[in-house]
Amino acid sequence: MRPARAWIDLDALRHNYRQARQLGGGRALAVIKADAYGHGAVRCAQALEAEADGFAVACIEEAMELRESGIRAPILLLEGFFEPEELALIERLGLWTAVASDWQVEALARHPGAAPINVWLKLDTGMHRLGLSPAAFRAAHARLSALPQVRVQVMMSHFARADETGCQRTTEQAQVFAQTIAGLPGDTSLSNSPALLAWPQVRGHWARPGLMLYGATPLPVGAALPVELKPVMHVHSRVIAVRDLAAGEPVGYGARFVAQAPVRVGVVAMGYADGYPQFAPNGTPIQVDGAMTRVIGRVSMDMLTVDLTDLPNAGVGSEVQLWGDAPSASVLAQHCQVSAYQLLCGLKRVPRSYR
Ligand SMILES: *Cc1c(COP(=O)(O)O)cnc(C)c1O
Repeated sequence: MRPARAWIDLDALRHNYRQARQLGGGRALAVIKADAYGHGAVRCAQALEAEADGFAVACIEEAMELRESGIRAPILLLEGFFEPEELALIERLGLWTAVASDWQVEALARHPGAAPINVWLKLDTGMHRLGLSPAAFRAAHARLSALPQVRVQVMMSHFARADETGCQRTTEQAQVFAQTIAGLPGDTSLSNSPALLAWPQVRGHWARPGLMLYGATPLPVGAALPVELKPVMHVHSRVIAVRDLAAGEPVGYGARFVAQAPVRVGVVAMGYADGYPQFAPNGTPIQVDGAMTRVIGRVSMDMLTVDLTDLPNAGVGSEVQLWGDAPSASVLAQHCQVSAYQLLCGLKRVPRSYR
C-alpha cells in the first residue's frame, strides 16, 4: 500500500477548542466547515460534541452530513441559506442560520414556521463581503424580532484584518458594531481565530474559532501566542527510493535542483495531488526519521525529492513527516507562500486515521 497517510490527533483538537473558548471568555462554536479544514467534519464533531457549545459550517449540505451522522448539537450556517426552499429543512433539522441580506429577511417573513428558527443577524462592519449595512441592520432586527417564526439570537460580524496585529481596522470594526447594536437585545459574536489570539479587547458572547482548533496559527509565524496550540493533522509518508547524484547532475522536472557537490536524494511518496504545495521551493523543511532536512527539486504529482546527504542512516522505508509537529503546517505554508488554511483544506487522496 502507498505509505502516504495522515493521522488526526483528537485530543489536540479538544485541547485547542478549550484554549479558544477560554480566550473568548464565553461560548464558542467550533468552525468545522470545509470538512473541518481537511480534518474530517464528522469525526471532529464527534470528538468535540461532549464539550462544544455548537458547530459552524458553510452550508446546509455540510450541516446535513453532521445531522445524518448523529450530531445533535447546535449547528450554525455561517453563510445562511442560499434559497428560501432551504428554510423548511433548516427548521426540521433544528439548524441556526446567519442572515446577511434583506432577501433572507423577507424569505423568513414568508416562511410559515411552526418552531422558531434561531437567526444570527450579520452586520457588515467593514469587511464588505456579507452582512447588512449599519443603516439597514436595526430595521432588519426589528422586522425579524416581530416574527413569531424567528428568534434573533445573536448579532454577529466578521473581521477582515484581525491577523494584522499592528492594524487598527479590527478595533474600528468593533466600534461600528458596538454603535450599531447599542440597546438591541441579543447575544454578540465577533471573534475568529486571529481575533481570539491577537485582540483580547474585542470579545462577544460567542466566539467562532476555526483555524486555531487545528493547532495552526493565523498570525505571522513566530508571533507570540497567548495559549499553546497543538498540531492536529500529521501528514506522513516514506522514502521509496534513494539515489546518489554527482556534482552537476539535476533532479526532477525542469532540473530545478542541480547538485553542486555529491548529493544523496530520497524520493518520497507524496505530491501535489495529495495537497502538498506544488511550488515548495528548494530548501523547504521536511522531517526524515526525526531529523529536519530539505526538499530539493520540483514537487511532482505523486512524489517529491529530499536531501538525505547528511542523514546516512536514512534509506528506503524511512519515515517522513511532511507537516505536523515539525515542520508545522504554518511554517510549511509560509515557506511555500500559501496560507495554513489552504494547506490544511487541501489535503486529498491521503487516508486519514484518528487517535
Ligand atoms: C471561517 C469563518 C470563521 C473561522 O475563521 P478562522 O479564521 O478559521 O478562525 C469564523 N467566522 C466566519 C463567519 C467564518 O466564515
